[in-house]
Amino acid sequence: MISVEEALSIIAESVVPGQEERIPLEEALGRVLARDVASDADWPPFETSAMDGYAVRMADVSRPGAPLLERTEPVAAGDAPPGPLRPGEVVRVMTGAPLPDATEAVIPVERARRQEGRVIFEIAPAPGAHIRRQGESIRQGSRLICAGRRVRPGDIALAALAGAATLSVFLRPRVAIAATGNELVPAGEKPRPGQIRDSNGPMLVSLCRAGGWAAAQRRAVADETAGIAALFDSAGKDEDVLVTSGGVSAGDFDLLPEIARRQGFEILFHGVSVRPGKPIAFARRGGTFWFGLPGNPVSTSVCFHLFVRFALGRLEGDPGPGAPRVVARLARDLPSSGTRETYRDGILTNAGGVESVEPLTSAGSHDIAAHARANALIRVPANSGPRPAGSTVECLLL
Ligand code: AMP
Ligand code: MG
Repeated sequence: MISVEEALSIIAESVVPGQEERIPLEEALGRVLARDVASDADWPPFETSAMDGYAVRMADVSRPGAPLLERTEPVAAGDAPPGPLRPGEVVRVMTGAPLPDATEAVIPVERARRQEGRVIFEIAPAPGAHIRRQGESIRQGSRLICAGRRVRPGDIALAALAGAATLSVFLRPRVAIAATGNELVPAGEKPRPGQIRDSNGPMLVSLCRAGGWAAAQRRAVADETAGIAALFDSAGKDEDVLVTSGGVSAGDFDLLPEIARRQGFEILFHGVSVRPGKPIAFARRGGTFWFGLPGNPVSTSVCFHLFVRFALGRLEGDPGPGAPRVVARLARDLPSSGTRETYRDGILTNAGGVESVEPLTSAGSHDIAAHARANALIRVPANSGPRPAGSTVECLLL
């Protein structure tokens, strides 16, 4: 059986970003850039004042207290560049105003006083004080945002500054969700003896939506060949990824991998040395991918966070690792793990900047009540010994 790491590298090899589209800047938040964004201008675009104050020449202000002549027209942000500063003259300038040529410093208005048409300064400024130089932050033509980056609000500001009213981003993958199992009834129905309500279907839809991916929920499918074959047959019509739950382990009614194969899917892996989630299957037919997640709800969720998130991210051009990871200190002892890499429910808290994680007691991979309380999964490598409280562990953020 392959390891988690091997499974992730199989996903990384088979899943490449899809097509790109150009969208208005205002809609780009959270999307992944398909092309670099370069600036069409310097920033600041001209020499400008960082303060409300006076533009001065150094030679005129070496001695504080001397009365200087003030130009009658002040300069505000948005004004055209004013004429050059003459010797002995000062110009009132506002924050963001273009500075007159020959300005060597700006003295804040708080350090100046007007007296009989003249201006007197309390201080001698340092050369260059409160002047924002053209291009000191961004040079025209330089790369501002790199392809592969998930757009954040600061990137939106940069793109707007750079004159990019539209951005090239990768298409978001479309996902279809289908629960499988004879025992399942929808949440709105009362199960008969032996039946249970389908909790995986709605959970998988919301896991997708939490990542920003559109997901459509299909009707649950029974454990019989015709219905499952029809599901695989139609896969790919309206989605890039089909995610199912149930029917992938070793029971008599775990029919999905075999039927997927018969319907033309190439099984890229089936079975990963992980707990929970061992029977997970991953397959491809052309540009359509199938994740067969085990039906136990905690397994379904863990496999989604470990594998599906990674794949959906890559499909939309995000080279990142999927679920974010942090290092945290154990708040309680952790028993030794088995031979499989194990993911345990935990509650991660941050006290004074230190991440601490408390392992939750779980009755097993059906214990969705414990899992629903968790905000992190503690990663325990295969064959690791017991860990005392205070030692550090790697956690995945849910
Ligand atoms: P399976 O992977 O089909 O062998 O299912 C493993 C366990 O998960 C069984 O106890 C199922 O009843 C349960 N299960 C399967 N599908 C779901 C579902 N959609 N919602 C909740 N539990 C499920
Ligand atoms: Mg089943």
